[in-house]
Amino acid sequence: MSSFFDSDIKYLKGVGPQRALVLADELGIKTYGDLIYYFPYRYLDRTRFHPINTLNEDMGWVQIKGRITKSELVGDSRHQRFVAWFADETGSIPLVWFQGIKWIKDKLQRDVEYVVFGRPSEFNHQINIVHPDIEEAAKHQAKAEFVLQPLYNTSEKMKNRQITTKTIYQIQFSLYEQFKNATIPETLPKSLLDKLNMPPLKTALQDVHFPKDQYDLQRAQFRLKFEELFYIQLKLLRLKGIKARANGGHRFATVGHYFNTFYKQHLTFELTNAQKRVLREIRQDTNTGLQMNRLLQGDVGSGKTLVAMMSMLLALDNGFQSCLMAPTEILAQQHYKTFCDMLAPLGIEVGLLTGSTKPSVRNQMLADLAENRLKILIGTHALIEDRVSFSHLGLVIIDEQHRFGVAQRAKLWSKNYIPPHVLVMTATPIPRTLAMTLYGDLDVSVIDELPPGRKPIKTIHYYDSNRLTMFAFLRQQLQLGRQVYIVYPLISEPEASDLKYLEDGVEGISRAFPPPQYSISVVHGRMKAADKELSMSYFAKGITNIMIATTVIEVGVNVPNASVMVIENAERFGLSQLHQLRGRVGRGADQSYCILMTGNKLTSDARKRIQTMVETNDGFEIAEADLKLRGPGDIEGTQQSGIAIDLKIADLGKDNQILMMARNEAIRILEEDPNLEDRDNAILNAEIKRRWRYEFDWGQIS
Ligand code: ADP
Ligand code: MG
Repeated sequence: MSSFFDSDIKYLKGVGPQRALVLADELGIKTYGDLIYYFPYRYLDRTRFHPINTLNEDMGWVQIKGRITKSELVGDSRHQRFVAWFADETGSIPLVWFQGIKWIKDKLQRDVEYVVFGRPSEFNHQINIVHPDIEEAAKHQAKAEFVLQPLYNTSEKMKNRQITTKTIYQIQFSLYEQFKNATIPETLPKSLLDKLNMPPLKTALQDVHFPKDQYDLQRAQFRLKFEELFYIQLKLLRLKGIKARANGGHRFATVGHYFNTFYKQHLTFELTNAQKRVLREIRQDTNTGLQMNRLLQGDVGSGKTLVAMMSMLLALDNGFQSCLMAPTEILAQQHYKTFCDMLAPLGIEVGLLTGSTKPSVRNQMLADLAENRLKILIGTHALIEDRVSFSHLGLVIIDEQHRFGVAQRAKLWSKNYIPPHVLVMTATPIPRTLAMTLYGDLDVSVIDELPPGRKPIKTIHYYDSNRLTMFAFLRQQLQLGRQVYIVYPLISEPEASDLKYLEDGVEGISRAFPPPQYSISVVHGRMKAADKELSMSYFAKGITNIMIATTVIEVGVNVPNASVMVIENAERFGLSQLHQLRGRVGRGADQSYCILMTGNKLTSDARKRIQTMVETNDGFEIAEADLKLRGPGDIEGTQQSGIAIDLKIADLGKDNQILMMARNEAIRILEEDPNLEDRDNAILNAEIKRRWRYEFDWGQIS
C-alpha cells in the first residue's frame, strides 16, 4: 500500500498524541488509511431542517432552524445549567448547556436566525438538545461548500473525551486537504470500472466523506461497496475453483450394508422429504470424484443430525472414516450419546474426543484412528489439533458453527493427501446474502421442513409486571407433567444494572415452586463440567422439572418433554440467540410455549426483536430481520451475534443487488481466467493477497 495510507494519524492536524491513543483504542484507527476507511454511517443534508414539533429521541443527529425566544440560568452555582428556548413556526424546545455557560450566554442573541445541529433527547417528558452546535443561519449558508455533512459513529468513551462526530468530521477534513495531492493506486481493473461506470478509488474515497451532491455520493458508495463484496466473492470462488481442481475427492460409490440396514431396520420414522433430498444431494456430491464442500442449513430440530449420521454411514460403507465436530463439549457429548444409542445395534463403535478426554483414553483412540480401527469420531475443536491423524478420513462434518472460517476448514484438508468431503451444518438459518459472503465457496442444502407432528411453538411477551401471570402459567404446565426452562442473561448480580440474574432467580423460583412437588436443576458456565452434566441429566431424565440456566443451554439439550422456555430480560438477547433458545422446546408432541419477559421500557430495536419473535417461528425470516436490525459498524451497541464478518461499508441486509453483481463479475472473471494470470487481472491477484495476507497460505491449499 502506498506510504500515504501508512502515515501515523497522530501527525494529522487536529489529532495529536492524546486523541491518537483514543482513536486507536476505540476504533482501531492508527493510520491515514484506517481513518479514510472509517466511513460515515449517515449524511445530514445541510439544506434541510426538521420542524421542531417532529423531533423525537430516536432520530439521531438533526438540524433545525429558528430563533431564541428566552433564556435563563437554572440551578445553584454548583449545578448550574443554561437553558435557551429555541423556536420555529411549529414549536419550541430547550437547548441546554452544562459547560461553557458563560461563553454561550454571551454569544447567543435574540432576533438572530440560527441553525442548530444536535441530537434530540428526552428529559422529564420534554424533548431537548444538550450541547448542540449553534451558528448564525447567514454564516451557515455562506460556507455551505458541502451540502451533505457526514456523520460518524463514536463510542461512549470518545464522547467523554470530547471526540464527537463533529471532531471526526474535522479530522477527516484535514486529511482530505492532504489526500487531494496524494497518489492513490487503483485497486480494481480499469475494464471493470468502465463497465459499471464506477469512479476511481481516489475519487470514491474523497466523495464518500465529502460528496458534492447525492449523485457523487451514490457513485462513491456503490464503488466502495462493490469492491468490498467483490473481493470476498473473488477470494471464495477462487478457493472453490482451486479445491475442485486440486486433488479430486474420495468416491463413495456404493450405498451398502450399514446405511441400508439402518434405514430399513433401525429408523423408527419416515424421513422428511427435505431430509431425503439433502441425502440425495450428498450422495451425488460424494460420488463425483471431486471433493464435496456443502453447507447444510436447517432450523433447530429439523433433523440435521440424523442426516449427518446417515452420511457417516455412507462413508463407512465405502471404507472411510468420518468425524463430526461440535462447537462445545456439551453438544459433542450429546451427539456422542445419540450416535451410540442409534449405532450400537449395528455393532458400530463410536469415539468421543474432547479437551477433557483422559490422556490414556486419548492415546488409545489416536492409535485406533491412525490404524483405521475406529471409524466414527465425535469431538470438539480438539479434532483439528495436529496430533489427530486418521488413516482413511473420508468425511468431516462441522455442526452448529459460525466460528470455523475458511482457514480452519482448510486445516482439515491437509491431513490427507486426498481431502475429505466437508459438510458444514448450521442451525441458525443464514440469509442468502450472508451465506454467500461467509460460505461463498460452499454449495448449499436446505432442510426447510420439520418432522411431522410438531406443533408450532407459541411465543408470548410479558412485561416484568406480569410475573405472577407467568408463574401461574408455569404451575399449570408443570401440573400437566411438563418441564420448563428459565433462562437468565447473567449468573450473578451485575454492578450497574437491574438485569435479572440466575442466583436471584434460583432463590425466587425455589420459593414459588417448593419441593416435593417441584424440583430444580441449575446449569451455568461457572460450574464444573461434571456438575453441569449431572444437573442436565437429572432434567433430561425428568427427575427435576424446572431447569434454571444461562445461555449455556443454548446448544446441547434435547428434552422432548420440556414444553416451556422462559427467557428473562429477553430484550437483552439478539434475535438469533432468542431463536436458538426457543428451539430447545417444541421437540415433543405437546404444544410448547416460549415466554419472553422484558422490562417495561424497551428501545425501538428491542421492541422489533420481540415482535419478530412473537410473530414468526421461521428461522429464515428471523435471520433476515436480524440482519436488517443490526446495521454494520454499530459500535455503540453491544453486538450479540457470533457472526464475525467485518464489512466497512456494504450492508448485507440492504445491498443484495450489489452483492449479486459483485458475485457475477467474480464468476465471469474466473471463468475467463481461473488463475488470474492475464495482465489486466494482476491487480486482482495482488489485492487478494494483500487483503488476506494474514488469513491463509495459498500454497497449502492449492
Ligand atoms: P437438528 O440437528 O436439526 O437440530 P435433530 O437431528 O437433532 O435436529 O432432530 C431433532 C429430533 O427429531 C431428534 O429427536 C430426531 O431423532 C428427530 N427426528 C429427526 N428426523 C425425524 C423425522 N424425519 N421424523 C421424526 N422425527 C425425526
Ligand atoms: Mg442439532
